[in-house]
Amino acid sequence: MTNSHGTTTMSVLPYRDELGITPGRLYIDGQWVDSVSDARWHHLSPATNEEVTTIADASAVDVDRAVTAARRAFDEGPWPHLRAHERKRLIEPLVQLLREASPRLSRLQTLENGMPIGFTTQYRLSAEVAADVFDYHAGWIDKLSGETFPQYTDRSDLQYLSFREPVGVVAAIVPWNAPVLQMANKVAPALAAGCTVVLKPSEYASLTSLAIAELIDQLDLPPGVFNLITGVGAQSGEALITHPGVDKISFTGSRGVGGRILEASGDNIKRATLELGGKSPALVFPDADVRKAAKTVMGMVALGMSGQQCTAQTRALVHADCYEEFLDGAKEVAASVRYGNPFDPATNATPLINKRQLVKVLDYIESGTADGAHLLLGGDRPGGELSAGNYVNPAIFTQVDNRIRIAQEEIFGPVLAVIPFTDEDEAIRIANDTEYGLAAGIYTSDLGRAFRLARRIRAGAVGINGYTFMPNSPIGGYKTSGLGREGGRTAIEAYTELKTVMLETRA
Ligand code: NAD
Repeated sequence: MTNSHGTTTMSVLPYRDELGITPGRLYIDGQWVDSVSDARWHHLSPATNEEVTTIADASAVDVDRAVTAARRAFDEGPWPHLRAHERKRLIEPLVQLLREASPRLSRLQTLENGMPIGFTTQYRLSAEVAADVFDYHAGWIDKLSGETFPQYTDRSDLQYLSFREPVGVVAAIVPWNAPVLQMANKVAPALAAGCTVVLKPSEYASLTSLAIAELIDQLDLPPGVFNLITGVGAQSGEALITHPGVDKISFTGSRGVGGRILEASGDNIKRATLELGGKSPALVFPDADVRKAAKTVMGMVALGMSGQQCTAQTRALVHADCYEEFLDGAKEVAASVRYGNPFDPATNATPLINKRQLVKVLDYIESGTADGAHLLLGGDRPGGELSAGNYVNPAIFTQVDNRIRIAQEEIFGPVLAVIPFTDEDEAIRIANDTEYGLAAGIYTSDLGRAFRLARRIRAGAVGINGYTFMPNSPIGGYKTSGLGREGGRTAIEAYTELKTVMLETRA
């Protein structure tokens, strides 16, 4: 695109036009409908701050329509009582539909959250992994079961059995940073368990969810089993979490909103699964492949999602004997960052999601220096055509005291705090000295040490010399990082109630 000075500026709008999106609608009770209000959310590209489109900002009335439809489908419809084989047959076609739509969904994701196309097409963020998540949970439909219990005393001849039953209407609320995967992590186990769903994506990334709702519309689900509302968290999200017709809230997002959800759930004791923030440590020992460790850790902070990832290891706890080598490796990664048009395959890092987040990250960088840490590199804003977007150059702080803000608070941007240690006990003390407990990394060639430390770290997932999510293993947080787990059998069980039935067997 050429500006008034005749020079080229970066634009994502040609890609939007090519993707042919029809936003602005809600999906309620098996139909595409307009919002009852005219309120719209203006979606800006984080890469350029151009207006990409507007989405409906669902009102409390819209939310009520969606929850009422989901309630009716649960209370009066066949869905929760369908035979396992039948429910599986109705969900399974989505697996293939997602696989076929994967290239388009990756491009939509790049358009909405500015993540580079080379990253959104990778398995872990693409609709390929979402398809696998649906495939995995559909596989549980005919296997989820209760137990029978041995008779406990002679005082009773009752036989005890337990059953797993769907929990009811689920409000699934997802963030903007991995919208396709996060949608699947909630909608797949909820539907597979026999629940009905109202999905609310982030206002910063609703296009992929709207496109996925078009795929779900092609299934033969009874009306009201799946519903989608779009809108701003403080309005449509708030109306959803406080709605008395919702039985369970499944939320991924910030710690603050997670706390609000627990508060709002108190009224009618809603069930809740919360996947919240993190300030995950990486423990790097001299016997590790230190360069590789630096590449992995700084890669999470500066490349791909540019630190906007809940599990990013943003505190590097590095043994004094390999401190300089680690920094050399981290600097190399920072130097390899290529910001640019997110649809350019050479681009390898992401702008911050919005201007508010840009201001917040710059403020954290200032606070790091003010709190006595040494800013080794970065932390400034790139100029030229990038200045219109929400870019900040990756920052590395060294000699960080773990008690200062940049080591304690989730920044959600490309900022690494490097903290020295001298022995295992000190490393564990620093690693656990945080209110969060989502993930951790241990980098060592000593497997005994790796296991010893993995068991001592208070976090829901610990990667030894590597870290990635897979649909069949659970992930979730200790401490303020969350409640419950996603992935694996635990995830689908969290969408069920356990019922015990007693049967008198005395003649
Ligand atoms: P956010 O909490 O601002 O928003 C998440 C969702 O909640 C959005 O859909 C938003 O519209 C909605 N929301 C906001 N206020 C609400 C309210 N009052 N009531 C109901 N809904 C409301 O988070 P974000 O900025 O979209 O995402 C970043 C956060 O998500 C980070 O803290 C990150 O660590 C966390 N996250 C966690 C995981 C995990 O698996 N643990 C994964 C990805 C992201």
